[in-house]
Amino acid sequence: MMRQYELVERVQKYDPTADEALLNRAYVYAMRAHGNQKRASGAPYFSHPLEVAAILTDLKLDDATIVTALLHDVIEDTDTTRTEIDQLFGPEIGALVDGLTKIKRLDLVSKKAEQAENFRKLLIAISSDIRVLLVKLADRLHNMRTLEHMKPEARKRVSEETLEIYAPLAGRMGMQALRDELEEHAFRWLNPEAYRTVTDKLQELRERNEGLVEEIEAALQKMLADAGMKAEVSGREKKPYSVWSKMANKQISMEQLSDIYAFRVIVETIDDCYRVLGVAHQTWRTVPGRFKDYISTPKQNNYQSIHTTVVGPRHQRVELQIRTRAMHSVAEYGVAAHALYKDGQKVNGSGNGASAKTLVFSDKESGPYQWLRRLVETLLEGSNPEEFLEHTKLELFQDQVFCFSPKGRLIALPRGATPLDFAYAVHTDVGNAAVSAYVNGRHVPIDTRLRNGDEVEIKTSKSHTPPAAWESLVVTGRARSAIRRAARDAIRRQYAELGRRLLISAFERIGESYSDERVKKALPRLSHKSLDDLLAAVARNEAKTEDVLRAVAPELAATARAAQRTAEEQGKAKGWLRLTRAATSKLRLGSSSDSETTAGGPPAGRVRGIPIRGVKNDMPVLFEAGGAVPGDRIVGVLAPGEGIRVFQIHSPRLQEYEHERWIDVAWDVDPENPERFPALISVTAPNRPGTLAEIADVIGQSGGNIDNLKMLRRASDFTELKIGLEVWDLAHLNQIINGLKAKAVVTKVERVFE
Ligand code: MN
Repeated sequence: MMRQYELVERVQKYDPTADEALLNRAYVYAMRAHGNQKRASGAPYFSHPLEVAAILTDLKLDDATIVTALLHDVIEDTDTTRTEIDQLFGPEIGALVDGLTKIKRLDLVSKKAEQAENFRKLLIAISSDIRVLLVKLADRLHNMRTLEHMKPEARKRVSEETLEIYAPLAGRMGMQALRDELEEHAFRWLNPEAYRTVTDKLQELRERNEGLVEEIEAALQKMLADAGMKAEVSGREKKPYSVWSKMANKQISMEQLSDIYAFRVIVETIDDCYRVLGVAHQTWRTVPGRFKDYISTPKQNNYQSIHTTVVGPRHQRVELQIRTRAMHSVAEYGVAAHALYKDGQKVNGSGNGASAKTLVFSDKESGPYQWLRRLVETLLEGSNPEEFLEHTKLELFQDQVFCFSPKGRLIALPRGATPLDFAYAVHTDVGNAAVSAYVNGRHVPIDTRLRNGDEVEIKTSKSHTPPAAWESLVVTGRARSAIRRAARDAIRRQYAELGRRLLISAFERIGESYSDERVKKALPRLSHKSLDDLLAAVARNEAKTEDVLRAVAPELAATARAAQRTAEEQGKAKGWLRLTRAATSKLRLGSSSDSETTAGGPPAGRVRGIPIRGVKNDMPVLFEAGGAVPGDRIVGVLAPGEGIRVFQIHSPRLQEYEHERWIDVAWDVDPENPERFPALISVTAPNRPGTLAEIADVIGQSGGNIDNLKMLRRASDFTELKIGLEVWDLAHLNQIINGLKAKAVVTKVERVFE
C-alpha cells in the first residue's frame, strides 16, 4: 500500500503548491474511517481509495481531486456524514464527495444497453463538477483492475456497465488511455473465449513478425533524422478489444487487420507534424483513402493528429499517427490534460494563490471557457449545446430530470415533469390509467415536480380516463397529446353509449331486442365504418334510428312507423325534448353550455312547453325534479345505463359531477305541443291569516300550477314555503316570481334546486 508521504510526494512532483496538510488529513481520516473493512480480495478497504487517488495523480489532478478520491467511499460505506466532510475539508470537497456518493447510490439501478445514453447524461447531471466524473472513472478503473476477486455474476454486471456507460464516457471526455484499459478489462470478463482467441492471435503475429516493429521504428527514426527532425517514434501494441470490435463492426477478418502496424510520431510543433508527413509520403508509397487531418479539423472530443497509412519496408501496411506532445496529452488524458495544462499556466502566471489550485473550468473569462464549450458539445454529441453554455461547470443536463421505475428503468424527462409525464413516458396505457403516484415510496400528488434520481411508481386503474384538465399538469408533448386523445376517445365512447341507448329504446318500442351483433351485420348498408361510428352518429342525430331499423330489416322500420303513428293518435308522445344536432355537435368536455346553444327555447313570454313524460319514454334524457325549465341554461351528464341526466346549470347536484362529464345540451321545444316543466321556489312570508291564499292566487292568476307545497317554520313569526310549480318555461317562472315579489305579504322569493 502506498504510504502517506509517497502520495504527498507524487502530488507535489507536478504541483508544488498542493496543500500538504490537507492531503495528510484526508489520508489519515479515510484510513481510520474504513478501519477494518476489507475488500473482496481480502486487502484492507483503504487500499482502494488510495489506489484511486494514485490513478488520479498519474493524471496530475489538483489536490482537491486527490482528497476527494481518498474520501470517495466514506459517506456511503462508513459512519461519516456530509456535514463532517464539510467541516473537516471544506464545502468544495464536501460537494465533490457528495457527488460521488450520489453516483454510488445509483449502482443499485439496472443499466440496460438502451438506457446507457441516458445514464451517462444522468451521471453528468448529478456530477455538476467534472472532477466528480474523473474520480468516478478512476474508481471504476481500479474496480475493473481488481475484478477477479468478485463473484462471476458481479463480474459480468460490472463489466457490461463499464462497456456501456463508463468506457464511452471516458472516450467522450477524450481520455483514450483510460477508455482502452476499461474496455480491455471488460472484454476479458464478458467474452473470455474471444479474448483468448484474439490475444493468442496477436501473440502469434508478434512471434511471426519478430523484429518487424523495431525495424520499422528504426527506419522511421533514420528517415526523420536525415531530414533534420527530432521526433519520438513508438510502435503501438494492438489492444485485443479494439481488434475484436473492428472485426465485429467492420466485418474485417483478423488476417486483414494483422497487416496494419500502427506507429506514433510525436514532435514539438504543428509545423513538424506536416513535415513528418511530407517525409513519410516521399519515402513510402501511400495507401489511398487513409489520410485524415484531425489537426486542422479536430474530432469532437478535441482529439488532434494526422493519420496516414503507407506501405512500409517489408511491404506491410504501416499506420502513422503524427501529433505534437500537447496533442498527445489530450489524446491520452482528455479533459484531465486540459486541466493540467491550463492549471500549470495559471500557477506560473499568478503565483500560488489558492484559486490557482482549483481546476480552471470554473474560470469563465479565459481560454478554458473555449475548451469547455467544445467539451459540452462533445458530451451532448449533436444536441443543441447553446442553451447550456451559460453554465461553466458541468451542469449540462439541468434542464432534464432522470427518474427510475421501481424495476430500475431510467427515464429522462424535461425539468418540471410530473409523475403523470413519467407515466406517459413509460407507456401511453400507463399514463391513461394513472390514478396516483408514489415517489421514493411516498404517496404524492400526481402533479409533483420530479427530481433527479427519484424512483417513481404509478398506480393505475383500468376504469380510469384522464380528465382533460390534466393536460395542464404535464410538460411533455407526449403526455399532453395523449391526454387530449384520451379525452376525445372518451367523448366518442360517451356518444356511442348514448347512441346505443337510443337504439335499444327504438328496438324495445316495437317489441324487438337490440344487440350490437344485429346492427353490425347491417353496417354495410349504413355507410359507417364501425359500430361505434354508427352509434355516435345516432347520438348526434346524424343517423336516424328509423334508418338503422330499416338497414337491420325493412319490416322493422315499417313497424316503428306504425307504432309512432299509433302513439301520436293516442296523444301520448306528441313531442319530446331532443338533443338537437346543433347542441350535441358542440358537446365537449370541461365547460358548461354556452348561451348560444341554450337560448333555443320558445320565444320569450310565449308559454310553450313539451311533455316531459314523453321525453322519458322516447329518449334517454332524464330531468331532475325541480330542475330545469326551457330557457334555463342546462347541462347534461351521461349517467351510464340511464342516459343523459339534465341539470339546470346552478343546480348543486350538478356540481357533484366532475366537469369532464358535463355535456352541452340545448332545448329543442316543439311549439305545437306545449308542456309544463316542474320548478321549485322558496317563499318567505309572515305567519298571518290569508297569506297562503294570497300567494296561491298570484300563482294561479299567472297560469302556474302548484304541484306540491311544504311549510317550514323558520321563526316564531315567519314561515318558509317550498312550492313545487309546473310552468311552461323560464319566462313563465320569472313572471310568477316577480308577481310574488310585488306582494306586500311576501318577504322573500327565490328559485331553488334540490
Ligand atoms: Mn470506490
